[in-house]
Amino acid sequence: MSPKVDLLSDLAQALQQTGRDSLVVALGLRGDLNASIGSAVNGTFVFTLPTVQTTVDVTCEIVLRQKMNPPGGAALPPEPACVPVGRRGPVYEFSPSLPKAFVASMGGVRQLGGKIVTFVGGNASAEKSVPTVFIPASAFVVADGPARGVQRPSAAATGTKKVLVARMRSTTHGQEPTPTINDLKERVFGMGISPVAVNFKSQSAACSENELIIEPGACVSGNTAPGCAEISDGVMNLDLDMDLSPGVDPSEVEYAAVVKLNALGLRDAATADYVMFLFPPGISPWIAYAYINGWSSFYSDTWGGSVSAHMHEVGHNFGLAHSGEFDEEYGDESSYMGYSFLSIGWPAMCYHGGQHRSLGWYSTHTTEIAASDFVSGQNELVDLFAFTDVQALSAGDPVIIKLDVASPRGYALYLQYNKAEDHNSGVVESANLITVVQDALDTPAYQQSWKVASLGEGDDYDDNLRVKVCSLDVVGSVDVVRLSISLDYIGDPCPPPSLSPPPAPLEWWEILLIALGALIGIILLSLCILRVCFARTVEIDMVPAAPARADPIRSEHRRIPQSRSDIAPSTTREKTFDL
Ligand SMILES: [Zn+2]
Repeated sequence: MSPKVDLLSDLAQALQQTGRDSLVVALGLRGDLNASIGSAVNGTFVFTLPTVQTTVDVTCEIVLRQKMNPPGGAALPPEPACVPVGRRGPVYEFSPSLPKAFVASMGGVRQLGGKIVTFVGGNASAEKSVPTVFIPASAFVVADGPARGVQRPSAAATGTKKVLVARMRSTTHGQEPTPTINDLKERVFGMGISPVAVNFKSQSAACSENELIIEPGACVSGNTAPGCAEISDGVMNLDLDMDLSPGVDPSEVEYAAVVKLNALGLRDAATADYVMFLFPPGISPWIAYAYINGWSSFYSDTWGGSVSAHMHEVGHNFGLAHSGEFDEEYGDESSYMGYSFLSIGWPAMCYHGGQHRSLGWYSTHTTEIAASDFVSGQNELVDLFAFTDVQALSAGDPVIIKLDVASPRGYALYLQYNKAEDHNSGVVESANLITVVQDALDTPAYQQSWKVASLGEGDDYDDNLRVKVCSLDVVGSVDVVRLSISLDYIGDPCPPPSLSPPPAPLEWWEILLIALGALIGIILLSLCILRVCFARTVEIDMVPAAPARADPIRSEHRRIPQSRSDIAPSTTREKTFDL
């Protein structure tokens, strides 16, 4: 089935769902659809279907696509796109003519993600070789609420997920991505000839405390499509009958790739939950992009081998938004949802506390404090632990603290100790500091988050809530951060540890034992005094007294270890990671 026929069948299906208003379809198709319909223009077959007018409503699921520019490039807003309801098929992109009033009524374009909408009375049209649904301002738009299977809950980021990596390759012109099949096995799954230690599979498992297990997508038995048998450890060549030279419209390539995947029977959950597509060099102006809460991500050539790009783009698939700092949308480099790096096997890091919570990770190690729980004039002392130590912690020890902030803006602060070790050893920013992130009050939600502070021992953050790091100690094999959190407390936010409680009253038998002990002691002391007096008398008689000499004062300082390096090697690491 060619892309064009697929498009036509979609439109025909839409036309059969006879509605109340007209749908004007003006198609400009390039290819070999049906020569009797069109004519060749500029050496390319361009077909124009006759305008079809009938009554129809167009119903589809809106998804959002988030693109990433090369480092230093401007941040790009997410774009809406339309997926036929009930299908995991090709995406129809919306033109900017999506009615502004409708977008505003839905709370902005980001809030549109995952809605089923029906466009009534529009002359929705597809006008490029890639189907693009244009919705004029005159169209009446109905939103029917969240779409099934599109706005996934956070549970999507837990369990075993199969991932397929597709190298988009031209059968007619020979272009293909630079990373080989073996390169991708090594960089995505840590398999193959030279496995890369820090890869998408290993980081997904480690950062999620083994909540998210990535497995290579595989050909389902019974699928005899030629491409299916080619899947090797989750990686395949996806052969496209088109020129993949620089300059070709990446949307056309994407469309052709998805259609081809469907035609091969590989676009089903039994084969893969998520698909990573690699463009050959010079096609995508963005380093990568992904569909928010969707199943696909697209990488510009070598970026398809970057673990940070994988974690970032699939993070979008899991519903995560960007993490910024200082007005830079990607500025928080303590999280993979900040900038990505064109590096193989680096950096080993994870996400910030709000994103970990949004993904459903560390749920038994998250402490939440509601705004109403903060009492004016009182100070809360709370312990926070490193998320990298989670397997050595007791149940309930928090690695994420969520603080609801009583503000009209409605946001929460997420605190996480960003310890640079193990799977977070390469964290680019805020290493060994407590990150304070402003994120959505209720997650999951697709909302830009901002890192507002990185705190070391003695530092504080004060905006609606005051957070002070009282101490950062190593206790046994884990780090303990003592935090003071208050609204308006004016006393010492970090009081010294309280003295031991007074002992309980003694039992009668304890009193009896003490009395007996005291009696024996008195007797012994009396005997001793008698003997000493006798001996001293003899000594005074025999030896001159020595001059008095004071002992030097001896001072002891007990040093509290500040880092693992302060502890003897034999006691530094008692925990093990079960990766
Ligand atoms: Zn992004």
